[in-house]
Amino acid sequence: MTAVVFDRPNEFAVRAVPTPRPAPGHVLVRVAASMVCATDRKILEGKFSGTTFPHVPGHEFSGEIVELGAGVAGPPLGTRVGVEVHVGCGSCDRCREGLYNLCLNYGKPETGHAHVGFTVAGGLAQYATVPAAALHVLPANVSLEEGAWTDNLGVALWALERGRLATGERVAVVGPGAIGLCAAQLARALGAAEVVLVGHGERLSRATKFADTIVEDAAPLFGTVDLVVEFAGTADAARDAIKLARRGGRVVLGGATGQGVELSGIDLSTIVRGHLDILGSVANPKRVSGRALTLLADGKIDVRSLTTHQFPLVRFADAWATFIERRDGAIRVMLCPQET
Ligand SMILES: [Zn+2]
Ligand SMILES: [Zn+2]
Repeated sequence: MTAVVFDRPNEFAVRAVPTPRPAPGHVLVRVAASMVCATDRKILEGKFSGTTFPHVPGHEFSGEIVELGAGVAGPPLGTRVGVEVHVGCGSCDRCREGLYNLCLNYGKPETGHAHVGFTVAGGLAQYATVPAAALHVLPANVSLEEGAWTDNLGVALWALERGRLATGERVAVVGPGAIGLCAAQLARALGAAEVVLVGHGERLSRATKFADTIVEDAAPLFGTVDLVVEFAGTADAARDAIKLARRGGRVVLGGATGQGVELSGIDLSTIVRGHLDILGSVANPKRVSGRALTLLADGKIDVRSLTTHQFPLVRFADAWATFIERRDGAIRVMLCPQET
């Protein structure tokens, strides 16, 4: 099969590799749609310690089940599925709390843990083997292209669930990237009265229909927002997020998933006297992606207009440049491994 291979830090190729066979508990997925994201860049640069080279990346993908490994009873062959990225061991203390995104056996495949596209091979390939526990059956009216958003939608929805979004609230989303724009739409779908989007750059022009208010300067809105979710990953964004919250409000920080971003410039009384709940959020557990797919099936979320570019897998180099350079306001770039 053809796959993208990260051979060593900062070096990749698209080439023929052996088609994988599903191990016990796994299924083989013929990948239909697969996207690249900023964490793939961290992996390629060698900044993700859980990845060993050579590595087949790809963690935002969908496809059809074409083979079941030993011990897997279903779903049946031909089922269209989206893939969730985190699979816990199932038996550690965090997994038993349902927080398998925080599995204590991270990176130990012998325990059953997998971080698809990170610690094990992913879906920037014509075929991928994934644990059956990673699968979400796509609703009938969700296309395979939309299904590639399974994990992004789960990440965004979990941040809102962490923040206990209540109907009628004012919600701010800091960061107009793919996950931020999913969060803005999900907030509306879950009954937010007003959604404010905070960010900069050309991508904002694509965001107008996903928010009631779009601002580049958050300062006039400081202290007015019930729930703030942040998916920008910078210290400036985190500062804005905390200052946006009203007294007694909630702030969910989800952007800075890598090490090295330090926060300063916040008067601690903003948090203490502000009586704020400040929460971190990484990835998503508890079948959140499946719940997000039901909102997608209900037509409440538009991911098509977030998929700004599409390429056959063999043109990965062009796709990668388009994404990394944010050419033409790129939000998500999709690779189609079955196209030539
Ligand atoms: Zn991603
Ligand atoms: Zn675990």
